Amino acid sequence: MLDKRQKYAFKKKLDELRKIKGQHTELISLYIPPNRRISDVMAHLRDEYSQSSNIKSKQTRKNVLAAIESIMARLRYFKEPPPNGVVFFVGMVGEPPKLVAEIVEPPVPINIYLYRCDSQFYLEPLEKLIEEEDVYGLLLIDRRECTIGFLIGSRIEMAAYMTSRVPGKHKKGGQSQRRFERLTEIAAHEWFVKAGEKASKLFLEKDKLKGVLVGGPGPTKREFVNGNYLDYRVKEKIIGLYDTGYTDEFGLRELVNAASNDLEELDVIKDRRLMQRFLNEIRKDSGLAIYGEDEVKNALMAGAVENLLISDALEKYRIKAKCKSCGYEINEVREKVDEIKCPKCNIPMEIMEKKDIVEEYAELAESSGAEVEIIGRESEEGEILYKAFGGIAAILRYKWNSG
Ligand SMILES: [Zn+2]
Repeated sequence: MLDKRQKYAFKKKLDELRKIKGQHTELISLYIPPNRRISDVMAHLRDEYSQSSNIKSKQTRKNVLAAIESIMARLRYFKEPPPNGVVFFVGMVGEPPKLVAEIVEPPVPINIYLYRCDSQFYLEPLEKLIEEEDVYGLLLIDRRECTIGFLIGSRIEMAAYMTSRVPGKHKKGGQSQRRFERLTEIAAHEWFVKAGEKASKLFLEKDKLKGVLVGGPGPTKREFVNGNYLDYRVKEKIIGLYDTGYTDEFGLRELVNAASNDLEELDVIKDRRLMQRFLNEIRKDSGLAIYGEDEVKNALMAGAVENLLISDALEKYRIKAKCKSCGYEINEVREKVDEIKCPKCNIPMEIMEKKDIVEEYAELAESSGAEVEIIGRESEEGEILYKAFGGIAAILRYKWNSG
């Protein structure tokens, strides 16, 4: 299983590959599982090579053949595939065409062999590898509303919202009290059946459902759960019943928060606790909470950080670049890295190093004994970290002054 940091790095790599587009069907993706013989793959590539010699467009043919050649040249260095297999993404990109060649060793074993030539790289099998997050079903119900959703990793998704026709507490004039109560009970039963069927269907469709949380105000949720309106396979997965004020979309987050003690190990809960601690320290002005690139970096280097809180939404890179003409060098954090021009000569500089800032800070934290928390922007707390604190913050072990 991947830890959060590996997952982050892997996701980032896929994001980069996803952005690359070929002019035509000329980008090659080659998936080699661990048990495949390299000689078989070579034979297959030779075959693809001779077939590609028939491609009509001269430029496309040239590009495809160059890509296949490049893969074959690299494959010669392999005696056998690495333990998890290997994936090649190779193609000529841009004008004038430049060879892009990414060799990815998947973090967990892949079991498909696949060759594909397309106008973009084929990433689906790798994307699936990192989707194995915990999924919980969320169900909110009272006599008026029912909301069904999912907690996926630290993201809350709404799946269905329904309203009932169960009459309110006040009877209409002319009806006898008993008749009114009977009609209400019939309507409630029908409502529960409808809600139960919908929830069971949606929850059973998820094959990795770890548990189900049920919420709502008052006793209705218990009545619903005890009344066998849910499929027994869903019922078995109920972790608990929780009081919430809302039964609409707002209630979904309320429900997850209410269940936090029972979901101790979940990322979303851990993220929240840490962010709340951070915000508390800020509020108290205790000096134990800091934020900002430089401040956090200095504290990390001094070994003063207990928890590094860093947003996975940061699109920043540490860039080391050099001008080939005058030798001018830069070493700084930038958001855009496509082309950097020498301020003196106004020609593109050579990029010597490009490092994701999240990686840079995570490494620094690990070497100084700080806990790294990469926090997604899907949660409320993650949004606060990103927007209000620039995506980089820390809780300190002790008061520490960089000044
Ligand atoms: Zn220069």
